[in-house]
Amino acid sequence: MSSIASRLAHEATRAVPHVRPQARPDIRFGRCLNPAIMAPQKPQDAGKLTVVLDIDETLIHTDTVGQFDEKFKYNGEEKKAKSGDITDDLFHLELDDFKVKVFRRPHLDWFLKEASSKFELVTFTAGVKMYGTGVLNKIDPEESLIQHRFFRHNCTPIGNSYTKDLSHLGRPLSRVVLVDNNPICFLPNPDNGIPVSSYYAEKSDDTLLTLMKFLDHLDGHKDVRPVLQQYFNLRDRLGVTVSTAHL
Ligand SMILES: [Mg+2]
Repeated sequence: MSSIASRLAHEATRAVPHVRPQARPDIRFGRCLNPAIMAPQKPQDAGKLTVVLDIDETLIHTDTVGQFDEKFKYNGEEKKAKSGDITDDLFHLELDDFKVKVFRRPHLDWFLKEASSKFELVTFTAGVKMYGTGVLNKIDPEESLIQHRFFRHNCTPIGNSYTKDLSHLGRPLSRVVLVDNNPICFLPNPDNGIPVSSYYAEKSDDTLLTLMKFLDHLDGHKDVRPVLQQYFNLRDRLGVTVSTAHL
């Protein structure tokens, strides 16, 4: 487990530093008009770990094919896979007046099936609903794997970006994790974050295999927050003295 944790922690080290300068004490969250709220867990799912998954650059990577509106695209770092290491596991989406091609992160289908058998799976994207629904209808066409879907209108604004507040979900935060490539999203609940490297269609990526092992490890803990704080220390590394006056 220590090697898995150290690998994820290494990814966190790569992902987090560029956030710190923005995480100043004077930053204020904007108001979330549509907080992410879920119905109570079904009896057969009672006590399951709730795994909240980002979509773009965490589960998939999207490239433009036709006309494309930048507002639909993740606004983080831009990096592309080296030629020769690009997966051919992709599908196309036509959304209104633009087309995109969507690359599945390697092992995605396996990951979703396996994870859904153990955990309560939720997706939470800063992408707009039309785009996010298009992607989810491809990767979970029968809506049998992912139990709840949240989108940009459920996010909490901060500056020009979006965070994902887990405190409204209706689940004890001791049993909720957020898997995301964008550390800004962890700001409301830094002790619940699992940072992963950004995916840009690399065929050799095996992050989801590592992630599954880590989730299995976490599932054995009544409260995931001290464990995640120990591994990733996001509270300190994000400089989380951000106002939570909106909560
Ligand atoms: Mg993302």
